[in-house]
Amino acid sequence: DIALEKVQFDYGSAPMLFDVTFSGGVTTAIIGPSGSGKSTILNLIAGFEIPDSGRILIDREDVTSLSPAERPVTMVFQDNNLFAHLSVRRNVSIGLDRKTHRGAGENIVDDALERVGLAGYADRKPGMLSGGERQRVALARVLVRQRPALLLDEPFAALGPGLRSDMLALIRALQQETGMTVAVVTHQPDEAEQFADEFVFVDQRRIAGQGSATGFSGRQDIPGLQAYMGEKD
Ligand code: ATP
Ligand code: MG
Repeated sequence: DIALEKVQFDYGSAPMLFDVTFSGGVTTAIIGPSGSGKSTILNLIAGFEIPDSGRILIDREDVTSLSPAERPVTMVFQDNNLFAHLSVRRNVSIGLDRKTHRGAGENIVDDALERVGLAGYADRKPGMLSGGERQRVALARVLVRQRPALLLDEPFAALGPGLRSDMLALIRALQQETGMTVAVVTHQPDEAEQFADEFVFVDQRRIAGQGSATGFSGRQDIPGLQAYMGEKD
């Protein structure tokens, strides 16, 4: 599980309060209007922002005071920042923990490339890949960290609908194979409904509701949700 317990945070403009649990070993989609606080939640979990009060627990360990590198999570940003002059293999190797043994590291990298469907691409440079393939390299780079939780902030927003649903299916398959806890911010609730187990709806800097993904978008009992879904149509 990933739990934010009464976490208060303020960038200096308006306070945010998040009290929410992301269930362990499943995929949760985080939806909500622009500026509602979705990215802030992932940044707090990953340790890029520190709460003013409250606690963050990952698999029941209090990680509130740990640095990002010490936390058992990895995060994929929308801007995936591959190094253009390095091969796919080297780009993925950057994700390895420094303490991983050299030979073992090579196996882990090959395995990650195979999992994302890029086994034959190790020696190419990012410039010789499509946008979707570059996203897969970014995903392989976090997979080699082998952390129990994976956070994705609208990782595929720049891709067309076809590629995006391919990537979501890939994340889904990886989650089921590894048992990772996955949280994905998405602006496509309809697509997310097909692959996420649970939904969290963020509105006005708070968690307005959460629950099973099945039928979530139709729920009338969550304040602001229908207005948000209406904007999406
Ligand atoms: P979007 O869907 O547009 O990405 P979001 O739900 O991810 O939105 P956040 O990025 O979490 O929204 O931002 C929540 C609020 O915090 C917004 O009002 C935003 O303007 C503010 N904010 C975000 N980052 C910073 C920052 N670095 N400094 C000051 N305010 C910030
Ligand atoms: Mg955001």
